[in-house]
Amino acid sequence: KAQIDPMEYLSLYNLLTPEELEVRKVVEAFVQKEVAPKINDYVESAQFPTEIVNAVKPLKLFHHFLDKPYGHGTSYTKQGIILMEAARADAGFATFIAVQNLLLNYTLEKYGNEAQKQKYLTKTRDIEYIGGWGLTERGYGSDASSLTANVKKVQGGYILNGDKRWIGNGNKDILIVWARNLDTNKVEGFIVETKWQGYHAEVIQGKLALRIVQNCQITFTNIFIPDENKLDSVTDFQNGPNQILMHSRVIVPWIALGVMRGVYEHSLKWTTTRKQFGKPLAAFQLQQERLVRILSTFQASFLMVMRLSRLAAEGKATIGMISSVKAWVTDKTREVARLGREMLGGDGIISDNYVIKALTDAEVLYTYEGTYDINSLVAGREITGLGAFK
Ligand code: FAD
Repeated sequence: KAQIDPMEYLSLYNLLTPEELEVRKVVEAFVQKEVAPKINDYVESAQFPTEIVNAVKPLKLFHHFLDKPYGHGTSYTKQGIILMEAARADAGFATFIAVQNLLLNYTLEKYGNEAQKQKYLTKTRDIEYIGGWGLTERGYGSDASSLTANVKKVQGGYILNGDKRWIGNGNKDILIVWARNLDTNKVEGFIVETKWQGYHAEVIQGKLALRIVQNCQITFTNIFIPDENKLDSVTDFQNGPNQILMHSRVIVPWIALGVMRGVYEHSLKWTTTRKQFGKPLAAFQLQQERLVRILSTFQASFLMVMRLSRLAAEGKATIGMISSVKAWVTDKTREVARLGREMLGGDGIISDNYVIKALTDAEVLYTYEGTYDINSLVAGREITGLGAFK
């Protein structure tokens, strides 16, 4: 009979503030009603879930990712909880929210001027515009600071050339582009509208993870960017994309928590319901060990991510702490997803049963926002004082 809520079990809800609890409840209700029953049609066809995203609008959910006057005020944990609840249904849906908020909107909030915020942030916050964040290139993934997309100053603006790869929402309305200024050799940031001449985005085909996210290969051919679309307070890679990634990497592990929780819930439900050899699968010792391993891994990860989020809110999270938590939790998510997949047998490969999505999506969580290796090296550098890469 027992169906233990993995948050309830160690009283993890008690670690949340009343506001965080309230937001979690609202998002959970929305996701379980509007997302979970519908998302897999989009997953199977690898389409962007426009109808579901439209249904998010009245919730004004994205206001929680911004401080006043554009939002309700932020807390890392509140933002994380929203992503966790979204990922319980689909990590791709959570990733869409993360790209729009942790990358696009946070960049506009941190580096945009008032005019840029009025023009773009008010629209992206209310999902009137959807947009992406372009750092990675075909030739520069982990070595992102060597990027070669470039701008040249001309009268009244800049001319942009180059490419970007893997850019989520890259075929929607706007894109933050990180590009090298050929005059200064520094990385700078720009707001680019996808309708401008010279912008070409192709959705990357054959992607078997985060299926609903429209990841694009983009080329820029002599795009004119007016002066007013430059993010003037960005000075270089460090005081630019790196700051945004320091922020998003604190919150992205919450998506991994959502996947672990989703796997736990689906595995528990399945194994307590399905019978073999005259008993529910969950009555067998091997299955119970797996369930407890998934539960404990979720709880340990939750406590780690929660602690990191609180430290980040106090301004005390270092780059090494952020990287080590992101690396560890996403690595554990792979393990949890594999266990869950196993427990459902043949039905574990059906998208409606979640665990096969968890298995493939965990591969991306492990890779994007800095791979496991790179995040380990960042943390390794901090704890040893010795850099193993540039
Ligand atoms: P590579 O850098 O080529 O790495 C390949 C392998 O080599 C990895 O295992 C890596 O860990 C290892 N490796 C590399 N360097 C070292 C080293 N020095 N030491 C040891 N091992 C090393 N980017 C964006 O800008 N915007 C987005 O919206 C975005 N969304 C994404 C969505 C998806 C689905 C994916 C897959 C990626 C996305 N990315 C995005 C890009 C992502 O951040 C990169 O894929 C990631 O940084 C790794 O780069 P890479 O894929 O080129 O791998």
